[in-house]
Amino acid sequence: MALMITDECINCDVCEPECPNGAIYQGINIYEINPQLCTECVGHFDTPQCQEVCPVDCIPLHPDYNESQDELIFKIPSTSERESELTMRVLHTMIRVSDLEKSLAFYTDILGMKLLRRHEYPDGKFTLAFVGFGDEKDHAVIELTYNWGMTTYDKGNAFGHVAIEVEDAYKACESIKAKGGKVIREAGPMQHGSTVIAFIEDPDSYKIELIQAGTF
Ligand code: SF4
Ligand code: SF4
Repeated sequence: MALMITDECINCDVCEPECPNGAIYQGINIYEINPQLCTECVGHFDTPQCQEVCPVDCIPLHPDYNESQDELIFKIPSTSERESELTMRVLHTMIRVSDLEKSLAFYTDILGMKLLRRHEYPDGKFTLAFVGFGDEKDHAVIELTYNWGMTTYDKGNAFGHVAIEVEDAYKACESIKAKGGKVIREAGPMQHGSTVIAFIEDPDSYKIELIQAGTF
């Protein structure tokens, strides 16, 4: 049998790292178990590890998955299957800017990002600068590309925006305006929804959406 998590789950997160099969994940409201991956810990431990650690005993057997011991063993992913799983994450979004110093001032002084690294490429006549709210090993960041001498770009209508979470979108707009930034949509609930958003523009008119934490 596979196991399942009931509505009594308090989202404490202690079970997820204990699962040897990666069967537990955070669902929309509570943690959930993928019954296709759960082997009841057969092949790894004598007892289901998630049940051992759950503080509220909300992980019973799943009534719809009545599997024999052999069938459970057959479900255990092989080492090669595990190794073939790709781990990916978003590293950065690159935008081309027409005045690097202006853009750096906007992203660091006005938005509070850090300049993480900057590289000059004289042979290719371009400069790359990476800005973000934290180290690239933990955060997705923005790559500013400055092609020496390029002062305008044809932006078309395909690019949308970069979104940034803020604690308070109203205060963020006031702060950005006080520092000389441009707010093009004041903070407030989005149309037909309750998420509080605002839009600003960087020096090249790239749109940045501010989304208030806890409202989406
Ligand atoms: S019983 Fe074992 S395999 Fe199944 S979800 Fe819990 S920890 Fe993972
Ligand atoms: S240990 Fe129990 S309460 Fe905590 S996340 Fe897992 S199922 Fe939910």
